Amino acid sequence: MKQTRDSIEDIWGERTPYYHTQWPVRVDEQISEEPDHWVQSACVLCSTGCGMDIGVKNGKIVGVRGRAVDAVNRGRLGPKGLHGWVANESKDRLTKPLIRKNGKLEETTWEEAMNLIVERSKEIIEKHTSLGIGFYTSGQLFLEEYYTLGVLGKAGLGTPHMDGNTRLCTATSAAALKVSFGSDGQPGSYTDLDSAEAIFHVGHNIASQQTVLWMRILDRLAGENPPKLVVLDPRETFTAQQATVHLAPKLGTNIPVLNGLLYLIIQAGNIDTNFIQASTVGFEELKEIVSKWPPERVAEVSGVPVDKLRAAAEILGNTKTLVSTVLQGVYQSMQATAAAVQVNNIHLIRGLIGKPGCGIYQMNGQPTAQNTRECGADGDLPAFRNWGNKEHVQQLADLWNVDPDQIPHWSPPTHAMQIWRFAETGSIKMLWISGTNPAVSMPQLSRIRKILEKKDLFVIVQDAFMTETSIRADVVLPAAIWGEKTGCFTNVDRTVHISHKAIEPPGEAKSDLDIFLDYSRRMGFKDKDGNPLIKWNTPEETFEAWKECTRGRPCDYTGLSYAKLSQGSGIQWPCNEQFPDGTPHLYTNGKFNTDYDYCETFGHDLVTGAATTPKEYKAIDPKGKAFIKGVDYQPPHEVPDAEYPLWLTTGRLVYHFHTRTKTGRSKELQAAAPDGFVQISEEDAAKYGIAEGDMVEVTSRRGKVMEPAKIGDIEPGTLFIPFHYGYWDKSDRPRAANELTLTEWDPVSKQPHFKYSAVRIKKADGNFFYKAAHAVEEVLETVKEKLNS
Ligand code: SF4
Repeated sequence: MKQTRDSIEDIWGERTPYYHTQWPVRVDEQISEEPDHWVQSACVLCSTGCGMDIGVKNGKIVGVRGRAVDAVNRGRLGPKGLHGWVANESKDRLTKPLIRKNGKLEETTWEEAMNLIVERSKEIIEKHTSLGIGFYTSGQLFLEEYYTLGVLGKAGLGTPHMDGNTRLCTATSAAALKVSFGSDGQPGSYTDLDSAEAIFHVGHNIASQQTVLWMRILDRLAGENPPKLVVLDPRETFTAQQATVHLAPKLGTNIPVLNGLLYLIIQAGNIDTNFIQASTVGFEELKEIVSKWPPERVAEVSGVPVDKLRAAAEILGNTKTLVSTVLQGVYQSMQATAAAVQVNNIHLIRGLIGKPGCGIYQMNGQPTAQNTRECGADGDLPAFRNWGNKEHVQQLADLWNVDPDQIPHWSPPTHAMQIWRFAETGSIKMLWISGTNPAVSMPQLSRIRKILEKKDLFVIVQDAFMTETSIRADVVLPAAIWGEKTGCFTNVDRTVHISHKAIEPPGEAKSDLDIFLDYSRRMGFKDKDGNPLIKWNTPEETFEAWKECTRGRPCDYTGLSYAKLSQGSGIQWPCNEQFPDGTPHLYTNGKFNTDYDYCETFGHDLVTGAATTPKEYKAIDPKGKAFIKGVDYQPPHEVPDAEYPLWLTTGRLVYHFHTRTKTGRSKELQAAAPDGFVQISEEDAAKYGIAEGDMVEVTSRRGKVMEPAKIGDIEPGTLFIPFHYGYWDKSDRPRAANELTLTEWDPVSKQPHFKYSAVRIKKADGNFFYKAAHAVEEVLETVKEKLNS
């Protein structure tokens, strides 16, 4: 193995400090052998979207390197990017379709597997209509695949039951952008980090989750004019350790803290009155709501000390440029959309939007989550069209040459939590899961396992590996992944990358695009004239069709092409005749996408989630002004009590991605973070008689796990368990964090609440034996590795 740096030991690498506003290039590389050639791509292990080349030798991937010309990373890669590629070469890749026969999954042909799927689909449609069919996809597929899925689901089958696991990680990002600005789409650009005077990380451990963006910030901190950092996070994370001010609220109290900050900023007069008047509506209502949140009350409810809140408001209220980032600490917690919107409000009342140095990143978690949302694979209509606007539905009907009534728009699209409920209650009879592992990632896993195992639910899983989900499927389709197919994907700052096919997929594995196209053909989906509904066959043809779908919409791709994307390294949408080189900032003229005829949604009540009707919206049509919406505090739905006295929060680690289907197959990443754990404060460890490494039983109302204890860097009364660890590589104990989490979700974004639940703990019985067994296991692993090397 040859590498330019050891990203496991030194996650962010050497500092390359800024000189003026230039972020120097540093090319990170990791190869097992010298490649014959390099193929242009981008990383698919988080939403940062780093430009990357794939090294190929003799038809195999032998490594990766960062692309120096790429504006996102300027050559850098983090540990997941540098090591995750080895998953492609894993010996346990799925290479043939499988069908369950007599209770067992057995290898079969594509012909038999697809025929069975089509037969079942037709039976269900005949007996129960297309409402008996649901799709649950991913944030891992490519744009072309989502668009094809969106068209076949909406205009082919006509089912509203389509969503992605993006509901678990980025639904609130989309919801918050729609609420404030009228449509999805991040206002800023990563280049804002190059000049921002202050950076605000809200529920976002960027140092672990977006390591390359964090390198950019570390390099700012090491250079001239370092920015001030305000971090809102209950844990003492890597990010929090670098903060100028770290606000550590109790779980579920983001709204009190954000309202308190808005209170102080407004009270100090640090607002841009001209911008507020010219470009927003709702400021007076916000002022009224936050007036109830003086710092003393914030401290009482959230535990954030008054002086810290004041120090943070001083920075946020006086900085001339500001970048804010928001992630799961907000999205997966109580009042998710409402809290994310308060971050937008800080920018709006200060007029810090639509110009260099002023970005808001309502972050995504997964690399292609943006495309799930853009393309309509999550239930929304493609290209940010409004399902409540008849004209928007007609545009799609014209584009696809179908009757508008074929496109489900009679009620809101079914969100993932409801799709699973319909499968549970039996109205969904067939669930097609692609590129995701809900048997580890969904909340309340005992319930999810029961649903997947229901006799009257036909489950299709399309994946590259056997997972905790695919072992419960009726049909398993082997999927080609990144590096084995061509397609595009879009990162958080709207940069579109192309990823070219570098190698052939293993065995009979096929791209998700080819699988969806095959299904569409076999189902005989037709347009109004009797021609095939889906008229494209290749990734590039799909991209061209998608471009037409986006014409005139906020995410306009019409100026892009495979050729153009292959020349440089990433272009930010909208890219069209007006902006042929892409667009770094949206809303530069203070005009937003809220106009009745253009907006993606008519909005919701932030407390109840009740939808605003078209008539109601027309009456308040802000005609291009942004919405400032305030909201008061609501306590979490489950709080510690005498029976379950501690808070549990869940999250991610720097070395793993989601349920480790890829990162768990890298020896280096797995060795760096081999197992789950429960993080506990020194105070609580002493109280419960727990020592470092002791096996701890953690129990909630929904289930129980056993985790070794890791002591420190967390507030007393709160526990943390990473959610990556399931059972595909270890089944000696219950260890998936989501055994414990609860089935509750945000009323607007419908994103589940993973960030809080009430639990109790005790040192596990037979601790000595657990420790001894683990010691033996570690020795065996070392011996195995030595024998293999
Ligand atoms: S920061 Fe994200 S996109 Fe970039 S290399 Fe790391 S995992 Fe990949």
